[in-house]
This record gives sequence, structure tokens and C-alpha cells, in this order.
Amino acid sequence: MTRFIFVTGGVVSSLGKGLASAALGALLQARGYKVRLRKLDPYLNVDPGTMSPYQHGEVYVTDDGAETDLDLGHYERFTGVAARKSDNITTGRIYSDVIARERRGDYLGATVQVIPHVTDAIKEFIGSDLTDEDFCICEVGGTVGDIESLPFLEAIRQFGNEVGSQRALFVHVTLVPYIPSAGELKTKPTQHSVKELLSVGIQAGILLCRSERPIPENERRKIALFCNVPQERVMAALDVPTIYQVPISYHEQGFDDQVLKYFGMPDEGEPDLSRWRDIVQRVRHPEGEVKIAVVGKYTSLLDSYKSLAEALVHGGIANNVRVRLEWMESEIFEKEGTVHELEGVHGILVPGGFGERGTEGKILAAQFARERKIPYFGICFGMQMAVIEAARHLAGVPNAGSSEFGRNQEPVVGLMTEWVRDNALEQRSAEGDLGGTMRLGAYPCQLVPGSRVAGIYGTGTIDERHRHRYEVNINYKDRLEAAGLLFSGLSPDGALPEIVEIPDHPWFIGVQFHPELKSKPFDPHPLFRDFIRAAIDQSRLV
Ligand code: GLN
Repeated sequence: MTRFIFVTGGVVSSLGKGLASAALGALLQARGYKVRLRKLDPYLNVDPGTMSPYQHGEVYVTDDGAETDLDLGHYERFTGVAARKSDNITTGRIYSDVIARERRGDYLGATVQVIPHVTDAIKEFIGSDLTDEDFCICEVGGTVGDIESLPFLEAIRQFGNEVGSQRALFVHVTLVPYIPSAGELKTKPTQHSVKELLSVGIQAGILLCRSERPIPENERRKIALFCNVPQERVMAALDVPTIYQVPISYHEQGFDDQVLKYFGMPDEGEPDLSRWRDIVQRVRHPEGEVKIAVVGKYTSLLDSYKSLAEALVHGGIANNVRVRLEWMESEIFEKEGTVHELEGVHGILVPGGFGERGTEGKILAAQFARERKIPYFGICFGMQMAVIEAARHLAGVPNAGSSEFGRNQEPVVGLMTEWVRDNALEQRSAEGDLGGTMRLGAYPCQLVPGSRVAGIYGTGTIDERHRHRYEVNINYKDRLEAAGLLFSGLSPDGALPEIVEIPDHPWFIGVQFHPELKSKPFDPHPLFRDFIRAAIDQSRLV
């Protein structure tokens, strides 16, 4: 029997509901329960795939090829449970399904309305694709009181009523701000937020109060009294030095105990949190430090490279070092005509990206890394730029470019409109919609025996997640290999280059996929682990 925990947020956005949900998932898992985490997003986009990273942060891609909210990345990193298409829904998707059904005549002449048709579609999603999970944690995006959230709140209210309170719990994340002039923590915003939730028929069962300082007994009592929640279910969620400490800190507050008590489930001793304690120990007490330059375009909003930043932290955890990230705008290299800011870094990473702006700067960064023998990690766009650089400067193709930037005489990176997946041909139209039309999700890749990547992965076939329209053009393989760039990973049919490396370099690897999406703090991705190891070697040289 699956129990449902709905996580809402109030007062302000950015309270870390996603992390709270992920940490609760990890805690329940540490007690031996099977969990699933889901996100209900109130915006009208069908998925976040078409949203600018500046607006919405990274687009997280699942194995089954869904473009989802970045919170699903937190869920996966904290629980190790691979997120699926069925774990993220938006208002846009719900409405487009409801409207498609209406056009088909499925509603048999009824007037189609938010209640019951939209709310039914939301409830159907919440309960779908679950088997033997003990808990399904559903986070509702946005803040209570937003117009957009209303259909979702109404749907979870109905859902809770239908399955009964013994199978549904509402956790509300709020803010208890400290007002310096009064020298006090203020409970009023929390009281208002809980009332706002009550006004749509939802009584919060547990309150998670974000606060920068401990909440005194008296304030907790006040919150409990006014919010109609038992005092032991008013939790203080204090800021912690690393996000991986959140499960430990919530456990110390009794969060998981209270969840189990709420559901009347046995509380069998302490959960095993040793894995989290070990991670926190490594993050907080590293034995050294490496400097990694991340040369990108969206570097002003760190959320746009969320999984990447975390995967680099994981690489540091694996090697017991702190990874200091230096975010650099590639356009600056173009304007200044030099990459001197890269002097002294121990590794250079060019991440995924779209569009022509800043590409010449990325190519300069790849060239610098190659010539100066500094570890280079190119991810997706970063691989494509490294290949263009090698084509121009090693293989004698001076006009090498990507057809992403318009027609090109030498499309070393070109648009692919057909490929094979699971023995079936997948096709895309070059003029098609932008949404959901990329090569998305997990694809297998075969590694060349004896290559560096085969050694790093320790296996011959890997499975990694993709999100791109363009591919390195296989027709240039022979010329590039003759010039020293090894195509060390290919799709099983040999048509799509997935990995390139320079054997005659301390560490130069470009991958067409996004390895950062599968890295976990307790299971760092082999490429990030080895990249940081190579950066440590480099740090000993400079
Ligand atoms: N813009 C490139 C493409 O579409 C790379 C995409 C990416 O880095 N995710 O192929």
C-alpha cells in the first residue's frame, strides 16, 4: 500500500522544498522503505524543455527521455531512484491532455471544467505508475496562494480525502524569519501561510519551518497553537553548511519519526545514516583543493548547471578534495582575445549549451587545454566544441563548424534527423517544434577496448542520458583519428560518435551525453571521479 506525502510551500519561494522532499525520501529509504518522488509544477509550459536556463535553471533529463524540473535531480541524487517521465507533470501537460480528450469526444458532451476534469487528470497522474512503493512524495511547485497552484491544491485535497488521512499527509514548508531590529524570530508569516492552505481545505500535518537560527520552544508552541498542529510536528529546518547534511539534520529534528507516527507505522530503531555522515565528513574536511574552470554561457545563474556542480562535488568526495569552481563566461575570452584567466586552473570543463554566442571562446578554452596539457572535460556542447577545435587545428579543416550556427561548408557537427533506438528508427523533422524534439534520454554506447574511457568505466558498454539535436559527424572520423583524436565511444550501430579522447594528453575527454545527471554523492560518476583525480595530478605540477 502506497502512502502519499504532499509537500507544499508558503511565505516565499526558494525555501528548498525540493531538497526537503529529497531528504525525506532518503530518510524513509534509510529505514528500509521503498520511495518514489514526484513534482507537480503549476506553470503552463508542457515541460521545462523550452524554458531558458536563466528562468528556470537546468532541465533534468530522465532515462526514459523526459525533460523535467531540476528538483527531480535532487530526488535522484538523494535516493538513487531513477526518475521517470511519470514523475513530473505541469499544468501545461494536464491541460493539453484534457483538451486532447475533449477533442476526441471522450467527455461525452459534458462541459469540461477545472473541477472535475482537470483535477481528475491531476489525481490520475498522482496515482499512476506506482507498484510496491511504500511512500510517494509529491512536491507541489510554487507557493500557496499563487493562482496557478489552485487546481493542484484542490486535486491533492480531493486525493487526501479519497484515500483517507491514514494514507495521506500534508507537509508544509514555511519561513520563520529573524527580524534583527526586534531581535526575534517571527511566527506570523507561518500562521498566515497555514491559514491560506486551510482556506483551500488542507490542514497541514507537519510544518517544516526554515529558519536561520534555532526556533525557541515558546515560538514552536505558538506555531503549534495557531496552526492546529501538534508541537512535536513543528520542525525547525535550519540552514546547514552542505545540502548533504539535510537528511541528518531533519532526522535530528525527528522528521522521519513524526512521519511514521503520523501514519501509525512502527518506528523500528534508528535509520542507518552512515552513508550521509561519511559524505558530510568528506565535504567538510577535505584533504586538499583543486580549481576547476567551468567555461559556459549561463554561469550567472548557478541553478542552470545544478547537476554539473553537484557531480563535480561528488568527484571531490571520491578523491577527498574540495572542488573550487571558477565560473567563466566564454564570451569574455572572445572579447579579450586571450584565455589568460585559465592560467593556473587544474581542470577545464566546458558544459552543455545551445546557440552560437560564446562558442569561439569555448573553442579557445579547448585549444588551451589541449595545447597546455590541462585536464579537459567537454560535455555535450563542450565535446562538440573540442571536436571543432581539433578539426580546425589538428586535422586541417580550417572552416570546421556546426550546422547549429547556420549552413556550413564543413559540418563537423551536424543535425541528425534519424537514428536507431531499441531496434526502431526514430525520426525528427529539421523544421519541427522545439519542444521535446531532441535526442533525449538514455542510449547505450560501446567503448573502444583499451581506451581511457574503457578503463575509467571498467566496462565495455555504458548507458548515458542525452539532450541535444546535433551530433559529431561520423564522416570526419578517419581524418580526426589520423590527427590524434580517438573516437572511443560509439552508438552500437557505429553511426553516432558518443565519446572522443586524446590518448596523447593527460586527460582530454569529450562526451556527447550528460554524465552529470547520473552522479550521486554516495556513488560518484566514474568520469567525474577520474577528472578530479587528473586535476589533483595537475595541481601537483603547477
Ligand atoms: N546545442 C548542442 C546540440 O543541440 C548541444 C546541446 C547540449 O549541450 N545539451 O546538439
